[in-house]
Amino acid sequence: MQNNFPFLALVGQDKMKMALILAVINPALGGVLIRGEKGTAKSTAVRAMAALLPGQKAVDGCPYGCDPDSPEKWCSRCHELYGRREPESPPSRFRVRPLVELPIGATEDRLLGSLNLEKAMADGESVFEPGLLAQANRGILYVDEVNLLDDFLVDVLLDAAAMGRNFVEREGVSVTHPALFTLIGTMNPEEGELRPQLLDRFGLCVEVKGLADPMLRQEVIRERLAYESDPEAYVLGFAEREKELGVQIEKAGARLPGVELTDEALRDAVDVALRLGVDGHRGDLTVVKTAMTLAAWEDRPLDREMVLTAAELALPHRMRRKPFQDVDFNVRERLAEGGGATAWPAGGQATVSPGRAPAPPPSARVGRGACSWPRAPGGNCRSDPCACSLRLWCRGPPPWRRLAC
Ligand SMILES: [Zn+2]
Repeated sequence: MQNNFPFLALVGQDKMKMALILAVINPALGGVLIRGEKGTAKSTAVRAMAALLPGQKAVDGCPYGCDPDSPEKWCSRCHELYGRREPESPPSRFRVRPLVELPIGATEDRLLGSLNLEKAMADGESVFEPGLLAQANRGILYVDEVNLLDDFLVDVLLDAAAMGRNFVEREGVSVTHPALFTLIGTMNPEEGELRPQLLDRFGLCVEVKGLADPMLRQEVIRERLAYESDPEAYVLGFAEREKELGVQIEKAGARLPGVELTDEALRDAVDVALRLGVDGHRGDLTVVKTAMTLAAWEDRPLDREMVLTAAELALPHRMRRKPFQDVDFNVRERLAEGGGATAWPAGGQATVSPGRAPAPPPSARVGRGACSWPRAPGGNCRSDPCACSLRLWCRGPPPWRRLAC
């Protein structure tokens, strides 16, 4: 068993954690790019996220790991073999959710898969050797140092992530297969920027920085030392809560198709994008999708606060910038400065539709004041006033969503 540093043991970096959770719940967000200097736990967070996700059923022998219970997403091979056998389901196996890491030196064939044209000519049959995109189907595709990857490959990756399918065409022979994966890229901007055309095609983008709070920094070291002294015991201490978090993520994914987009939320998303001067419509669309994913995660109807949180994750990297200008800034402050017909309070006064889950107390909604969530035994909020601006969770017992600040 691998003793990955647990996701819930990561101190701070709430925005990164939230972005990862949302991108995994909804791969259609178009992936997440995590930018930050060395030593800010970017890779640790990605691997920790992958490790806590529940396993999944996959069609036995299928190179794409199709879901036996979702024939509408099957590859052509599964359709051919099992399409007429309904309601009898195909043979299946249980597997760990894939985490495929793309090496920087990977070739196009390694990524997309390749067609054996000689065999195709000889036998009249196309022989496709699946690549990393096939392996990543229904899992996570992780590219460390994505800024150092060939632009063409980044382009292909982003295409596949947006469409959930991979198309390979060689000499008039074409193959397509499902490639529904969560794309996660990490990079250190000091080592070179990603081209703006590629940057704004990542669904979400977060900037991680070393923590400024001395107490949090001390805690990072304390946690790390505890982990290093006995990784197995340390990981075991988080196992139950990590498992519960994985289950919550899966449940949110199941709730997502039922989330209703309200006229207000749509209007708010467009208003935010216009006020921040975002070009094109991809930004607005991603804000809407992200806010809906957040609604599924929090199991509450969509509200303005969710649109704001979504905008923080989906817009800053899409805005017109001067060279070397930071992609990270406070969306709420920028909106509050802007004035206009819709009041966008810096503190995020959320409007919650009536019914369903009760709204948390306003002081707990956004990290702009003391966190009033009940502390679990042993304490969970790491700082007072609460520094968590994304209502993530504290480290008490589950359910975290209700303990979140
Ligand atoms: Zn299949």
